Amino acid sequence: MSENGHDHPHPGSGTGKTTTPHALRIRAMEGLLVEKGVLTEAEIQDRISYMDSRSPANGAKLVARAWTDEGFKDRLLTDTKSAALELGIDASGPVEFIVVENTPEIRNLIVCTLCSCYPRAILGRPPDWYKSFEYRSRAVKEPRAVMREFGFEPSENVEVRVHDSTADIRYMVLPMRPEGTEGMGEEELEGLVSRDSLVGVAVPKNSANHE
Ligand code: FE
Repeated sequence: MSENGHDHPHPGSGTGKTTTPHALRIRAMEGLLVEKGVLTEAEIQDRISYMDSRSPANGAKLVARAWTDEGFKDRLLTDTKSAALELGIDASGPVEFIVVENTPEIRNLIVCTLCSCYPRAILGRPPDWYKSFEYRSRAVKEPRAVMREFGFEPSENVEVRVHDSTADIRYMVLPMRPEGTEGMGEEELEGLVSRDSLVGVAVPKNSANHE
């Protein structure tokens, strides 16, 4: 989203050299929590490793399986946590997950208008743009314009549903399987599912097809 003025680099994302006010504040809070015995250094490291082990690849796995196994798809839509666990993805915890299905009539878009709630237990950390004020406000006000900027726009007769995530409920999109992928196996299908398509700002493309 370069035209929205939110294209500045977000400091601290992966560089290890974090000297921004936010990073310094977090470090200070971390130090205090450890000092006061609320958390241990090991617990913090555990939590970081937990988060590092999550990635959009998990979402791609779930989607590819849902595309190839109707029964799994039903379970994914009705009981996301157990379905995820079937594939070895542990999304247990107090947070609820809801998978919303794209159809020819309905496209879903995920946002957290308040802050940055995201299905982290499955997909890991959200991208920076997801946390931007620009996205959080525009996704609700003009979802179609946002989708257009990400490169695809549903036609006027398609309903766009925007889901506002909360601390308790996190959403993930089940995109539609692209045409011309009938001969593809699960692994190949996984390769078509981008993070952005799991948030709903993009749709999976069959690269062989050049849609
Ligand atoms: Fe949030």
